[in-house]
Amino acid sequence: MSEVLLSVDGLAATYNHAIRAVSDVSLVVQPGEIVAVLGANGAGKSTTLQAVSALLPARRGQITAGRIVFDGRDLAGSSAATLVREGIVPVLEGRHCFASLTIEENLFTGAIGRDATRAETADDLDRVYTLFPRLKERRRSLAGLTSGGEQQMTAIGRALMSRPRLLVLDEPSTGLAPLVVEGIFRALKQLNAEKDLSILVAEQNSTVALRFADHAVVLENGRSVLAGAAAELRRRGDIKTLYLGGS
Ligand code: ATP
Repeated sequence: MSEVLLSVDGLAATYNHAIRAVSDVSLVVQPGEIVAVLGANGAGKSTTLQAVSALLPARRGQITAGRIVFDGRDLAGSSAATLVREGIVPVLEGRHCFASLTIEENLFTGAIGRDATRAETADDLDRVYTLFPRLKERRRSLAGLTSGGEQQMTAIGRALMSRPRLLVLDEPSTGLAPLVVEGIFRALKQLNAEKDLSILVAEQNSTVALRFADHAVVLENGRSVLAGAAAELRRRGDIKTLYLGGS
């Protein structure tokens, strides 16, 4: 494995060939790290994560400059499905569960396309239930009828069923109560510690993200303007007022 798991260098991206959503974003994820992408509304966090996951074409977006390299391989031209097989697995903002499937059926969809035996899939499911016991209790419930926190856990659990090497999460805290957010980030930290899973997470909630991340990069108007160890950025009192719209 390369020393750097993911590097984004000078990324620029537009939507509909017009709006420049991201103009110069660079970041690095080392193996086994949690890296937070921080920024105010519209700073370019989602666009960056979608570029990394090859999801921009689905939103009529495209990369216009820069390089994204994963485990030593340039990702230019790869499809989202190929990247999932390579280990880059996204958890989109808004929790995206199949509302009319049960929680367990949702989790199984994460194993589709993977070359896994039944026994391996069953083991993976057990691991998701160990991480999120609440999902086991609710496994027969329709996802559309479960709480926001349960849907977020389901979305993360489904991603884990694809055996990611890099989990890419877009604003997992959105719309969730502080205690639920704390539980989600604790679970992510546990996965990171036990499985050495690398995580790239976009967050507007910089307080919680900086507590759990190893490194962070701050975006402003489509550019990465600051990067460093999360502990250092946390010690600086001015990050929120300078870059994050005071949030
Ligand atoms: P938020 O926290 O609100 O999701 P963000 O930091 O994730 O913000 P992006 O969603 O990446 O920021 O948006 C960056 C810029 O691109 C914004 O100016 C936004 O209006 C624009 N943009 C995002 N998605 C689209 C789209 N599908 N079509 C056109 N413009 C878009």
